Amino acid sequence: MTSTLPSSLTGQLTPVSRRIRERLEIAGVPFLANDNIAEHLKEGELEQLEIEVAGKVRELLRSLVIDIDNDHNTEETAERVARMYLHEVFKGRYHEQPKIASFPNVKQLDEIYTVGPITVRSACSHHLVPILGNCWIGIKPGERVIGLSKFSRVADWVFSRPHIQEEAVMILADEIERLCEPQGLAILVKAQHYCMKWRGVKEPQTSMVNSIVRGDFRSDPSLKAEFFELVKQQESLLIN
Ligand SMILES: [Zn+2]
Repeated sequence: MTSTLPSSLTGQLTPVSRRIRERLEIAGVPFLANDNIAEHLKEGELEQLEIEVAGKVRELLRSLVIDIDNDHNTEETAERVARMYLHEVFKGRYHEQPKIASFPNVKQLDEIYTVGPITVRSACSHHLVPILGNCWIGIKPGERVIGLSKFSRVADWVFSRPHIQEEAVMILADEIERLCEPQGLAILVKAQHYCMKWRGVKEPQTSMVNSIVRGDFRSDPSLKAEFFELVKQQESLLIN
């Protein structure tokens, strides 16, 4: 019977994750694996969530028949994994976007530039194993500009969620457009997927490359070609 009661009536015993889920459902806010829910968390809930997740990981380890009571190596694994999920590898779900200030484009710069490679680290939504790669961002500035290092910060925040690569690139493009409203935006991501390297087909060399072009990069083929040429140059700098 208690399972049908809303958490407000079941009080303290309700898991914090259920309280948050109910709040998101009432607000009609999606909470897919690659959505950020930071603004819907109340003070102290992230800490409570860490305790709840650790408890579930402990149960997972027990279900895997690992003797966590006597194995010194896995004794505190549950707490480590909970911390890692909530504050490191999936921090882009639970933490707010790092503060990124934008400035007016006083000099009316309109030449394109690229930033990269920016290291991106994520995990596939299907197996929760790592996706590691590089990202290049091309900008044709609009009314506002942001500092170069800010692209790394926003990419890290967006990729630190369970993802599929195609959606990660789209979400990153949306965030960059929101931050600096460029006239043109191009993003290229090359990444290695550990669900192909470590398991499944076990292909160690395969990588996935995808890109997105918006605004002037989409309407002007020469600008798009220039972006890919600049990326190639940046890549050759890496090798030499
Ligand atoms: Zn996978």
